[in-house]
Amino acid sequence: MLHKHAVLKDIFGFETFREGQEPIIDAIVAGRNVLAVMPTGSGKSLCFQVPALVRGGLAIVVSPLLALMQDQVAALKLAGVAAETINSSVSREANVEIWKRVAKGDVSILYLTPERLMSERMIAALGRLNISLIAIDEAHCMSQWGAAFRPEYAALEGLRNAFPAVPIGAFTATADEVTRRDIMQKLFAGNADEFVAGFDRPNISLAVEAKHNTPRQLLAFLESRKGESGIVYALSRKSTEEWAAFLNENGHRALPYHAGLPSGQREEHQNIFMAEEGVIICATIAFGMGIDKPDVRFVFHADLPATLDAYYQEIGRAGRDGGPAAAHMVFGLEDMRMRRRFIDDEGAGDERRRREHKRLDALLSYCEAPACRRETLLSYFGETSGPCGNCDVCRNPQATADGTAHAKKILLVMQATGERFGAAHIIDVLLAKPNDRIVALSHDRLSVYGSGRDLPKSAWQSLVRQLVATQCLSLDVAGFGGLSIAPKGRAVLAGIETFHYRPDMMGAAKGRRKERAATAAAAPAHDDLLKRLKALRWKLARERNVAAYVIFSDKTLIDMATRQPLTEMDFGQVHGVGETKRDRFASIFLKEIASHCAQSFP
Ligand code: ADP
Ligand code: ZN
Repeated sequence: MLHKHAVLKDIFGFETFREGQEPIIDAIVAGRNVLAVMPTGSGKSLCFQVPALVRGGLAIVVSPLLALMQDQVAALKLAGVAAETINSSVSREANVEIWKRVAKGDVSILYLTPERLMSERMIAALGRLNISLIAIDEAHCMSQWGAAFRPEYAALEGLRNAFPAVPIGAFTATADEVTRRDIMQKLFAGNADEFVAGFDRPNISLAVEAKHNTPRQLLAFLESRKGESGIVYALSRKSTEEWAAFLNENGHRALPYHAGLPSGQREEHQNIFMAEEGVIICATIAFGMGIDKPDVRFVFHADLPATLDAYYQEIGRAGRDGGPAAAHMVFGLEDMRMRRRFIDDEGAGDERRRREHKRLDALLSYCEAPACRRETLLSYFGETSGPCGNCDVCRNPQATADGTAHAKKILLVMQATGERFGAAHIIDVLLAKPNDRIVALSHDRLSVYGSGRDLPKSAWQSLVRQLVATQCLSLDVAGFGGLSIAPKGRAVLAGIETFHYRPDMMGAAKGRRKERAATAAAAPAHDDLLKRLKALRWKLARERNVAAYVIFSDKTLIDMATRQPLTEMDFGQVHGVGETKRDRFASIFLKEIASHCAQSFP
């Protein structure tokens, strides 16, 4: 039996297990069933790949998506593991060939879709082989309670009886309790060790800005991120296309992705994004599950996500390789209003509506968080933590200021106009900007007309937003976005309560510049070499018709550019370089490094 540490180092080229991996691996190696909930990017695959190699024999991995399977199989093969997949995308003859090798015991890990595995013939055939374990990826697809239920997955219930002596591992990133209970019952009849990893993804930096000019904000965000892969999420199909066009006009390479595109084009865009570097996908949330690209460096939300859960899932697509990644969101009150309206238009019962609005409140408080954003996010998932040092609030601590006087001006205008107008109207009155409606309603004759000329429009917008976030105002959700004064706002008006606000939310541009300087300083000083290594990786990936990260991850190339190994042995020390990859790639990468060094030191 191989040792787990030997497998980790020799095959995968990693020094240590990540947090949470080892206990899961130990349990499976010991032959126990496991239900593991781990956030995306935390390294689930290794948790069944290592036990598969340690136990020997044939491991079966069930996965819902062909593209995912193909990527994993290609990556394993390059690392020297005999991995295969039998599926409908290849010819019958090819599948028969693979099966022959499986039957002879020449294959260590076999990827199958659930429908393929659960056919009677397959179960009978596998029953004659030495099966080391069965791993079920995306196990939440089994649960009818979840949003991702797949009927094919329901049949996996039969595994327990079909392979009573084989340990089964179920893996998912979906956390909620109901789904977990469901899987535990159906797949294991309650008999499995359960592991729930923490939700923190410390390598993803978090930032939220008030929306004042989204195109400009997006370009500024991208300025220091040329050549990186990323996702821009937007709410509507049309806007994803507009963003893609806009980015292309501005020197970026961007592609739209939404459910309304012809499926051929959708697939093509996804494939380009997966295979190439530096592509930005502008997508609705239709772009999601199955995006297993580990080197996505940023997720930019041009519109507000639906909930904090959704937000967490969406930003979780960045930085799966553990390298630094950024989640950046811009939001405005208009977004919030739209979301509230979606909930009301859904026509759900009162209780559900109340719950949905509460979820939205949680999202709003994340956006306006006066303290560490990660603390706010994790506390939503029931985890307590300290300030993270990797969010805009931590990096750029902002004292709150007393805004009671400003708040009163807003509240007085609202009172004088009858608490039924939206932010735009209220601000026009404050700034004495006449328009037809103001004139028609004689709001230009109110004593408060023009009482807010001391601050610019953007400042008033932010103040209104923060008054909503702190529950001084309530946003009328009937659809017109009218604001009314909440009890807390009345207390402010009466001088019983004070109102504190975050001035930084009004001048987001300053903070952003600082942040950009920080990332630039952290960039490795080996940019030229890194570029060459990436180009080489790209070439090798092309030749082999696999995604670039299947050859080496970004992290591996960065480590390589930093260490600049000159011998094969040094090369084997680079993060993510196992023995097979060392043998296969050392000479070609060493040549590139040597040639770079020769050029930079004449
Ligand atoms: P998940 O399936 O949990 O979303 P993956 O299994 O795709 O995540 O792993 C994400 C990335 O982390 C991969 O690039 C993988 O090679 C890397 N990884 C996993 N475990 C380790 C480890 N112990 N040390 C270093 N990198 C790791
Ligand atoms: Zn923080």
